[in-house]
Amino acid sequence: RPSVQNKRSSQSLFTPIASKEADLKIVLLGESAVGKSSLVTRFASNAFDADKESTIGAAFIVKKYYVTDPETNEVKLINFQIWDTAGQERYQSLAPMYYRNASVAIIVFDLTDISSLTKAEFWIAELEAYNREEHKIQILLVGNKSDLSKNENDNQISETVERLKVPYFKTSAKEGTGVDELFKYIVDSIDDGIFVESR
Ligand code: GDP
Repeated sequence: RPSVQNKRSSQSLFTPIASKEADLKIVLLGESAVGKSSLVTRFASNAFDADKESTIGAAFIVKKYYVTDPETNEVKLINFQIWDTAGQERYQSLAPMYYRNASVAIIVFDLTDISSLTKAEFWIAELEAYNREEHKIQILLVGNKSDLSKNENDNQISETVERLKVPYFKTSAKEGTGVDELFKYIVDSIDDGIFVESR
């Protein structure tokens, strides 16, 4: 199976003309090594780099994402700005600019490491506190590394998910499973009001 041939990269050969566009900032949070930057890479370039080295310091990538309205055929462009903590999660608190203007927070844990779920709960609590004071960030929970999971922690995970009342997704950044569903959910929940006429 060729790894670079995929529908997203071929899509970019013919850039559609969008009539409307919106900027959408997404932040990723979670314990180190749960797969945050691998998920970003998977979404942005449909690739997985097992040997990549972590970089320290906040980093973000911009990904253009086109959606076509099935009824009107109108093409809309979403400029995803995806922020990766890039190691700073180790310091327990992130610069306020990390959250500023974010619409969505993806909280990631490792399905095979139950302690990373506890850490995810910590970040969710932190975001809920932020949401009480600032604007509202949609919170999504992601259990990553489904390719390694033998469902050993499923009971505890479903109890936690039920208690937290946040949308929950299972992914494998390595194999690519679940990543499209996650971003499709984000696209589907975008408020149409944030789109502006394309420049
Ligand atoms: P981050 O610190 O949260 O950004 O995590 P990374 O993206 O750097 O990933 C940490 C390690 O987990 C790396 O060795 C990745 O190759 C590996 N990894 C990430 N996602 C997956 C996955 O879905 N499955 C497997 N098997 N390994 C993964």
